[in-house]
Amino acid sequence: MNLRETDSGAEILYSGHSACPGCGAALAVRYFSRALGPDIVMVITACCWSIIAGGPPLTTLKCPILHCPFPSAASVGSGVKRGLEQKGNRDTTVVVLAGDGGTFDIGLQALSGAAQRNEDFIFVCYDNEAYMNTGMQTSSATPYGCHTNTLPLPRTKERQKKEIMRIMAAHGIPYAATATVAFPDDLAQKFVKARGIKGFRFFHLLIPCPPGWGAESDETIRLSRLAVESCLFPLYEIRDGITVELTYRPPQKAPLEEYLALQRRFSGLERWQVEALQHSVDRDWERLLQQGEGAAPF
Ligand code: SF4
Repeated sequence: MNLRETDSGAEILYSGHSACPGCGAALAVRYFSRALGPDIVMVITACCWSIIAGGPPLTTLKCPILHCPFPSAASVGSGVKRGLEQKGNRDTTVVVLAGDGGTFDIGLQALSGAAQRNEDFIFVCYDNEAYMNTGMQTSSATPYGCHTNTLPLPRTKERQKKEIMRIMAAHGIPYAATATVAFPDDLAQKFVKARGIKGFRFFHLLIPCPPGWGAESDETIRLSRLAVESCLFPLYEIRDGITVELTYRPPQKAPLEEYLALQRRFSGLERWQVEALQHSVDRDWERLLQQGEGAAPF
């Protein structure tokens, strides 16, 4: 099944939106909404997409939108879905859209509660690895060695990125998946699959952000592809918190250095730090390969 076969033909994103040139988040929403079809309600927490979608009457999305504060995205999503069901509508897909700040950090409590209750909606985390639209502030999704504007000198993060997929798998939710825009068929297929599953569904999308990452705006797809080919961001699914399945296995592992070199946010890394990062990528990849059907997650 490829993108053409999963395409509902429903284009819900108007052209002329206010995302930066090369924004991976705009592309991701365009891809997954075409896969889900036009009958969706979008709940958007404070993030870049609050700006991109805008407010009425000048919204850039052709679907009902609810903007909500940082901590409450998953609670609002739960309420919208239950409200629709009370009105007899069991068909509309509710999508909660949040950045890494609204997922890994400020939104985590409500997210965990909704996952634990197995609320019936799709939570999409588009992870650009910092609070980008407020000036590139550190989040717990910011990777080790990355420069941000809010860290103490020398302004590089010393802690590893939080492992959000392990956290979500621990809730035993029906479906969780990673995806990214350089693999649109993989992304679309996963959303089509998720649409057919009842209960809580979670997506972790890695989203290149040219201004925040210090990358050229025409490198978004290359960065997204290198993240996968280097095994930094593997593509996989987890069913019921137990069954882990890789959906793409790189034929040859790309060196992480190639991915890092395209981004000014990693320009301060010393050789030993690059090696430490490569080591942690290799370790995590091996750990993922060891997961098999029926195995405990991670
Ligand atoms: S700051 Fe980054 S994520 Fe936000 S709109 Fe611009 S490119 Fe997209």
